[in-house]
Amino acid sequence: MAASHAGPVELGFAEAAPAWRLRSEQFPSKVGGRPAWLGQSGLPGPAALSCPACGRPLAFVLQLYAPLPGRADAFHRGLFLFCCRAPPCCAGLRVFRNQLPRKNDFFSFEPPPEDPPPDTGPAVVCLQLQSGAHLCRVCGCLAPKTCSRCHGAHYCSKEHQTLDWKLGHKQVCTQSDNFSSTIPDHNFLFPEFEIVIETEDEITPIGVEKEDSEIIGSMAEASEEELESMAKHESREDKIFQKFKNKIALEPEQILRYGRGITPIWISGENIPQEKDIPDCPCGAKRIFEFQVMPQLLNYLKADRLGKSVDWGVLAVFTCAESCRLGTGYTEEFVWKQEITDNTLETLSNTDQPQTIEV
Ligand SMILES: [Zn+2]
Ligand SMILES: [Zn+2]
Ligand SMILES: [Zn+2]
Ligand SMILES: [Zn+2]
Repeated sequence: MAASHAGPVELGFAEAAPAWRLRSEQFPSKVGGRPAWLGQSGLPGPAALSCPACGRPLAFVLQLYAPLPGRADAFHRGLFLFCCRAPPCCAGLRVFRNQLPRKNDFFSFEPPPEDPPPDTGPAVVCLQLQSGAHLCRVCGCLAPKTCSRCHGAHYCSKEHQTLDWKLGHKQVCTQSDNFSSTIPDHNFLFPEFEIVIETEDEITPIGVEKEDSEIIGSMAEASEEELESMAKHESREDKIFQKFKNKIALEPEQILRYGRGITPIWISGENIPQEKDIPDCPCGAKRIFEFQVMPQLLNYLKADRLGKSVDWGVLAVFTCAESCRLGTGYTEEFVWKQEITDNTLETLSNTDQPQTIEV
C-alpha cells in the first residue's frame, strides 16, 4: 500500500486467505484473528490494550501494512486497531503504529516469498516472541500472567485466564505440555480475513445502481439556479449521507478507505471532528487522517455473536504527520468514531442495499 499525499483513494476488501499469508513475515493487512505483530519489541501491554471505558481487554479488529516510501525508518510500517467487544460496553477503541527500517532484528532484508511454504502439517499458532516473551492464548497480545499450576499457559489478564480455564485449560492443565497447540475457540477473536487493496476507480462503472446514476445525471444537468434551490431544501444531513452512499455505491463491499492526508467521507453530519478534536502526537506534530473503517466491516466481524454488538458508522484513524519514532515500540494514535444515527438508520432502511449494513 503506497502512502502518498492526496493520491487516489485506496479501498480495502475482506477476502478469505490461507493462514500463511496472514503471518507477520508476510507483512499482511488483515481483519480479525490474532494481531500479526510487526516489530517484536515494545508491544502494547495489557494496560494499553484495555478498554478506556470498562477496563476489559480489547479485541483486535484489523491491521494495515502502510509503509512510507522514502522514509528509511518506516520501510515497514503497520497500524493496529482494537475495540472493546465486551457487552454492554463495546465502546473502547485504540489504535497503535509501529515502524521498522528494512534492516531490522525481526525480518529478512529481502521481500517474503510469494509462494506458500512447504506443507508442514496443521498450522500451529505461535504464541511466543523472538525475545522469549509470551502472548496470551486468548487474544494474542502480551501475556505477563502465567497459570500458576502448570506455568505453561500465558495470559494478558485474569479475565482471559478465566475464559481459557472454563473452555478447556481446566482439563489439560496438569496433563501434558502440548496444550499450547490446541487452543479452543474462546469466542473472543473476530473472524480472520485478508484485506486486499485496490485503487478506487473514479469513473462510474457500468451497473451502478440506477438510483445513483440518476442522481449523478441530474446533478450534472441541473442549472446553477436549480442546484441552489436543491441545496436550500436538502438538509445538510441528507447531503452528507447521500454523498457517502454515492461513494460506496461504486464499490459496495469496501471495508476501508485509505489515503494519508486526504479528507475522510462521513456518514452523518453529526459528530464530525473539528481540528481541535484531533489531539497532536506527543512528539508535537499534528495528526493527519490516514484511513477510515466502513460500516461494511461489521458484516464480516459477526460481532453480534455476543449479544449487544460493536457498532459504528465510520471509524476514522488519525496518525502523526511526521510518523515519528517515539522509542522503538508501538505508538498510540487516535481514532474518531462516528455513530450511525437514528437519522441515517432510517434512510438506510429505506434503501435496497441490504448488503451494506445490517440494520
Ligand atoms: Zn469496554
Ligand atoms: Zn488476552
Ligand atoms: Zn495451567
Ligand atoms: Zn509524532
